[in-house]
Amino acid sequence: MPISSSYYSRLSRILPDVVRHYGTPFHIYDETGIRETGRLLIDRFSGIPGFREYFAVKALPNPAILNIMKSMGFGFDCSSIPELVLSRNAGAEGEDLMFTSNNTSQQEFLAAFQNGGSIINLDDITLISKLPEIPELICFRYNPGTRRTGNSIIGKPEEAKYGVHHDQIMEAYQSMKNLGSTRFGLHTMLASNERNHTYMVETADMLLELAESISHEIGIRFDFLNIGGGLGIPYKTEDPPLDIARMASEITRAFHCFADRNGYMPKLYIESGRYMTGPHGVLVVTAINEKNTYRKYIGVDACMSALMRPAMYGAHHEITVFGKETAAKTMIADVVGSLCENNDKFAVQRPLPEIHTGDLLIIHDTGAHGHAMGFNYNGKLRPKELLLRQDGAVELIRREETIADLFSTLAFEKDILPL
Ligand SMILES: *Cc1c(COP(=O)(O)O)cnc(C)c1O
Repeated sequence: MPISSSYYSRLSRILPDVVRHYGTPFHIYDETGIRETGRLLIDRFSGIPGFREYFAVKALPNPAILNIMKSMGFGFDCSSIPELVLSRNAGAEGEDLMFTSNNTSQQEFLAAFQNGGSIINLDDITLISKLPEIPELICFRYNPGTRRTGNSIIGKPEEAKYGVHHDQIMEAYQSMKNLGSTRFGLHTMLASNERNHTYMVETADMLLELAESISHEIGIRFDFLNIGGGLGIPYKTEDPPLDIARMASEITRAFHCFADRNGYMPKLYIESGRYMTGPHGVLVVTAINEKNTYRKYIGVDACMSALMRPAMYGAHHEITVFGKETAAKTMIADVVGSLCENNDKFAVQRPLPEIHTGDLLIIHDTGAHGHAMGFNYNGKLRPKELLLRQDGAVELIRREETIADLFSTLAFEKDILPL
């Protein structure tokens, strides 16, 4: 199954107690697994001095999770003011923060510069003139256009709104050098949920080559290269995992070749969200209805407000029925929420064991881009988040939303413009 068997067994042992205490639905994250993945990344990339993961905050923007990332020495990749605030509250400052915004507002720039600043990752050359001040360290997000192919979630680079055009990248660094910046980074983010390690290696190769030609042309050195996030995880049982060991050893070799040719080695940054937390979370729901019409439907007590990925991308999330893990899959059903949109389905025509009202369903791999992506359309509230801590205790790390939360923006001073 996609979540690790060790998490599954840790979870199974406590699930009845957790459900009795907190009720369903909830996301529950596994601190042990998150830390294991963090240590694995650090270990695999130890051949590149200064390697650092900048956790992509949008994947799981919860203070308890950010504290775990901080304690592992990771930085934070932010693209909004609230993400900067959350990360700074977790103790991050200055170069612990990478601000990778696009279509950036003046307000966002100011927030990125204030309170100790952050690494500014510019999305376009026109944004240079909009910087509130000239930072010592500047990074640009590179978009190679048709030089690279993207993948299905993120789309083709030449159609993507992100990043600096190949023909403008030299001018971008030259301008910042002329303006007084003295340290430089180069960033790209081309793939999402990519399990082919070669793709990630090619991305690193592309940045190394580009960094070399920019260095030669305008006489700068690169502090770091950031190959973005997008490291994939196996959502389906049959999907092979990303070969992180090969990815790391091939990228390390490429960095050493660069060092041999150029006399220095930039640091390597990645900004993984999904890979860090995706497999270390599940959404636990209760079956509340069964309906047999043109299809069989299992209705559960959460809806797409808790997990948008199946509806948004047709994404697959494995589902296990608690206590029936090894039972024969004797029925085919759509597992649905209660939202008035027909794509509000956690699974479509899925073979499952016989499910009865009251059964607990475990929806796998909801640790990244799960709760965070939820919305309130149709008056649907988002569920709570729990953390299975390393010490074995379970902690509430976000309460469920209430109707009062939903209506909180309706409390305001009367404001009428008579025209
Ligand atoms: C979303 C995002 C990430 C994280 O993506 P994952 O697929 O979760 O690794 C990293 N960097 C940027 C710029 C992003 O927009």
